[in-house]
Amino acid sequence: MKNDQLNEKIDISVLIPFLNEEESLGELCELIKGVLEKTGKTYEVVFVDDGSKDSSLKNLLEIKKENSEIKIIQFQRNYGKSAALAAGFARVKGEIVITMDADLQDDPEEIPKLVEKIEEGYDLVSGWKKERKDPFIKRITSKFFNFMTSVVSKMYLHDHNCGLKAYRKHVVKTVSVYGELHRFIPVLANSAGFKVTELPVRHHERKYGKTKFGLWRFFAGTFDLITVTFLTNFTYRPLHLFGLAGVISFGAGFLINLYLTYQKFFHNEGIQHRPLLFLGMLLIIIGIQIFSIGLLGEMLANIHGKQNNYVIREEYE
Ligand code: UDP
Ligand code: MG
Repeated sequence: MKNDQLNEKIDISVLIPFLNEEESLGELCELIKGVLEKTGKTYEVVFVDDGSKDSSLKNLLEIKKENSEIKIIQFQRNYGKSAALAAGFARVKGEIVITMDADLQDDPEEIPKLVEKIEEGYDLVSGWKKERKDPFIKRITSKFFNFMTSVVSKMYLHDHNCGLKAYRKHVVKTVSVYGELHRFIPVLANSAGFKVTELPVRHHERKYGKTKFGLWRFFAGTFDLITVTFLTNFTYRPLHLFGLAGVISFGAGFLINLYLTYQKFFHNEGIQHRPLLFLGMLLIIIGIQIFSIGLLGEMLANIHGKQNNYVIREEYE
């Protein structure tokens, strides 16, 4: 069912960010249409062109002529998958939102199962590429990444960064995805109090073109893990982290110098050449600096927190 025929609320939005995927898009649209028409639900398919330089957009505009459920957002240049998802999240109207990759690696046939899981009461259902069709090196690094992310975030998933996911609308309108944080959407959603689960999904080899993420992804992913850990734990209380580290450093330095002062006055020992003196001074200075960073963080949290530090699930009046 096409949404503009009914002009009522949309049940499902399928959101697809793409970068240079000209060969896949036609096939993908056909597959999605075939699956969603069968469900009898109203839907839209929102594509975000993340700065493609090939004929992806041209092909898509051609398909759109016959398919009014297709919407397209075109970026000025390539901003990255996270930005493309964020733009789509702001734009989608469906009660349930499905994200998927454009390269036919994710299978549209899985959409009804994901929707069913959301209808069971979950806020986010993350696909799990149980039998992954990717090169060996990627499978290994990804296993490590998933393990680290699970341990650090305490949100245990086999496959945090699966492109195929389903969300209740509320989640996509709440979680803020920027930089390269799309890898951590389940962690961010979980930390905001949403109910997250995973579901095994079929995965295919990349049929056309090649991956858009190079080796850099492994470094980027590690830095982002640190960012996410910090953001989800200390955004609204940075002093709890920096304050503690600062006090420990300052305290250690203070004790060392206290000891040296005692030596100087009670044992008349020359302390100016003792390495310990420099260590003590260093620890005191670093301690004060770390503590100050924490205070600066508190100021930022205070400014930011006034706009948004809670998520309302529902209001009953
Ligand atoms: N993508 C994007 N912007 C980018 C990089 C990738 O929109 O800067 C899209 C890409 O076209 C695909 C999805 O994100 O639809 C996943 O990318 P890819 O298949 O290259 O990642 P992989 O499967 O290798 O992890
Ligand atoms: Mg892919």
